[in-house]
Amino acid sequence: MSAVGEVADPSMGMVKSTAIIRDDDGIITVSSDNSIRVWLKRSNGQYWPSVCHFLTSAGRKIKIDHDSRQVFIGQESGTVQLFELSEDLNVLASKRVFNSHDVPVNDLALCKKKNWIISGGADGTISISEIGSGVKVSDYRCTIVPKNIDIDAESGVLFCGTSEGSIILVRISSDGICSEVNKLQGHTSEITSILWEPKTNFLFSCSTDKTIMCWDIGGKKGLYLRLQGHQDIPISLSFKDMSLYSIGSAGNCICWDMTKQRSAPPEWTESDSCEICKGPFFWNFKQMWEEKTMGKRQHHCRKCGKALCQKCASNQIVMPKLGFEFSPVRVCKSCSESVSDADKTSLAKMTSFNRQCINIEIDNTLSRVATINRNKSISLFNLEL
Ligand SMILES: [Zn+2]
Ligand SMILES: [Zn+2]
Repeated sequence: MSAVGEVADPSMGMVKSTAIIRDDDGIITVSSDNSIRVWLKRSNGQYWPSVCHFLTSAGRKIKIDHDSRQVFIGQESGTVQLFELSEDLNVLASKRVFNSHDVPVNDLALCKKKNWIISGGADGTISISEIGSGVKVSDYRCTIVPKNIDIDAESGVLFCGTSEGSIILVRISSDGICSEVNKLQGHTSEITSILWEPKTNFLFSCSTDKTIMCWDIGGKKGLYLRLQGHQDIPISLSFKDMSLYSIGSAGNCICWDMTKQRSAPPEWTESDSCEICKGPFFWNFKQMWEEKTMGKRQHHCRKCGKALCQKCASNQIVMPKLGFEFSPVRVCKSCSESVSDADKTSLAKMTSFNRQCINIEIDNTLSRVATINRNKSISLFNLEL
């Protein structure tokens, strides 16, 4: 992990979103003062703005298409504005305004196959517009508000991460008609980022529940993996060379080797008494009364899924093959003995940027990371693990 530079300008307000410019050392920011700025690294190593425009309302999300140099800004007002960045990075020309929503834009996705810009609004609407003509293709209201979206252009499926932890799959027909076709339930709280990886047909999601889910969408077997290892909240994901990178709100970065065989942890069983010592749990009044004993708290063995008391599940180990990295988790005695030292070998690597981040952007072509920090600065790093 190596630091590349820092952008700090107290006049620009709170930065809401950033995009990394690929063919030169620079970034684009939008912030609460309604500005959109292009920052370029100068010969003295510092970043200075080459462009500063003011929008009619604050930008919330930037999406950049590196091939066409098109920059899309989803705004507080609900509009999506398209700019074109000149070759010399000194001009950001306004090209089009899409009246996508009446409420703030939560996220943007590009469908290059159809030349569509797709946006999710804070009221749950998905808006699709044709980029070339500016014509709106369709509006669709999801049953749950999408916080973040990503598209599989090949199959026309839009993945929508919601604030309650589910992921809605919306199929978009070739003429833009949307319909919800599936819902993935795995996280217990707000989805912070979602990433569709077309080469492997994996969908990755991360959440304020601190876990990362890997959904095997293409395999159509309904398989999923749960990856746990973040002490902070993972908020950004990237995939490169069969490695998944996740970066959290305290700057912890984990590189998960996805060529390694993992399996999903077991479902937790339900029981009114410990499945090993048979002692009653605290809600099992009948058994407590009969045995004149105190009820116990319920825990679960992360390997066999059994419902157990504290005493019968007191061993703590890491189990990378079940996705439990870095922090030991609770298991029963026989499961603890069944895991060899070799099976405890980590299948991931961790490092830290040591930043308190509110937002993180990763460009996996450059292996470049931009963190928007709580102290309003932006830090740039090269992602090496
Ligand atoms: Zn027990
Ligand atoms: Zn067990």
